[in-house]
Amino acid sequence: MNLTDKKVAVLGAGSSGKAAARLAMVKGAQVQVFDTSDSVTNWPDDISLVTGATVATGQSFDCDLVVISPGIETDCEFVKSFSRANNEIIGELELACRYFSGKIIAITGTNGKTTTTSLIEKILTEAGIKAVACGNYGVPVADVVMREDMPEALALEVSSFQLETIKQFHPNIAIWLNFAPDHMDRYTKVEDYYQAKLRIFENQTAQDLAIVRAHEKLPELRAKTETFSTEDHDATLYYEGTKIMESGKELVDLCDTTLFQRHNAENVMSAILATRQLDVSLDSIKKTLASFAPPGHRCEVVRKLNDVLWLNDSKATNLHALEAAVKSQDAPVILIAGGKDKGLDYTPVTPLLKQKVKACIVFGQITEQLYRDFSSVVPCFKASDVADCVSQAAKLAQAGDVVLFSPGTSSFDMFTGYVQRGQAFRDAVNQLENPTL
Ligand code: ADP
Repeated sequence: MNLTDKKVAVLGAGSSGKAAARLAMVKGAQVQVFDTSDSVTNWPDDISLVTGATVATGQSFDCDLVVISPGIETDCEFVKSFSRANNEIIGELELACRYFSGKIIAITGTNGKTTTTSLIEKILTEAGIKAVACGNYGVPVADVVMREDMPEALALEVSSFQLETIKQFHPNIAIWLNFAPDHMDRYTKVEDYYQAKLRIFENQTAQDLAIVRAHEKLPELRAKTETFSTEDHDATLYYEGTKIMESGKELVDLCDTTLFQRHNAENVMSAILATRQLDVSLDSIKKTLASFAPPGHRCEVVRKLNDVLWLNDSKATNLHALEAAVKSQDAPVILIAGGKDKGLDYTPVTPLLKQKVKACIVFGQITEQLYRDFSSVVPCFKASDVADCVSQAAKLAQAGDVVLFSPGTSSFDMFTGYVQRGQAFRDAVNQLENPTL
């Protein structure tokens, strides 16, 4: 893509917008960044920024290319105001990938993206392939493609928001981990979220590979397709006990790794399928699996105290993640859930709670909704904050139980994000007194 002397508007002054602006400047464009908020902090002096931008600002700014950040709704009036018959509107992911000629492994799904992206990066790197984890992972692709030392492959986490603004984006390998309702505070229909995610396959051809969870509802795909499953032995890879199997043959035993829970086994299977497509040997993959740990706040063990296991799954920001965490437990569960109202329906999880959960402690903005939905199937208790949840759980827990902090929604009613929320849980659990000490 030739941007020399082109006029580019970048919408959104976050890390993605900053990287897109910098990339466009490096490629010779005249760049102007626009943000609707009145103040933007830590902005570099050499990138021109208009704060407090409005629809009127957009209407009076003619340009050749508009690059939108993923946090901005694609069809809002602000974006539309920059649209002209002769300009193109794309996202930062699309722009950056036009400057990358190596292999792209794109990973999407409602849950498991970050874990899988990080695992794929580690497998490739340890096998001697220069790879970078990026995208929704927190590292803008635009930053990566400006590096002098260009990677050979991208382990690219892609969100539905990023996929909304692609055009030619063409992953050599596309992974579809799972799909469940989420982000109903941004989408008006679940179908819109699904259609956005589906675009990961849009430009794939028969030369590419699609890796999908068996029995996901998907249209016919053009790419060669391989599947993974924790239930169906007809999938390309499946999980039996703690072993990953292929056509009756054991590939890897996850029992001595931190990845043996069912949802992580799915992430591992997709990573094996993707990396062996790039000719990484099974021995090398096994070595990486032996030392890999999922990033923090994802079903992480905080402590075992008086034979009660305390798990921090603060990254569970939707019902599907909560469900996966509960399903992965063999011991009786005391579940702590709650947080911001994202417009999700929690009733579908009640049969699972009835089967596996001894008691629920609910907190945050959706306290009343969860109390109403869950108390019909399990004993339910309301808590004022995370510390109160922990102290109530400590009173209820008996030896052999798991206390699972898997909120099932986002944290923004009380915290800056899932990390701060998870840290509040860790702190409260670590302060519990151990009578045996
Ligand atoms: P994402 O980047 O898609 O949010 P993460 O790897 O950060 O995914 O995990 C988010 C949450 O989902 C955590 O609570 C984690 O325990 C859970 N999780 C991880 N992998 C899966 C999976 N394959 N299926 C369901 N839940 C998962």
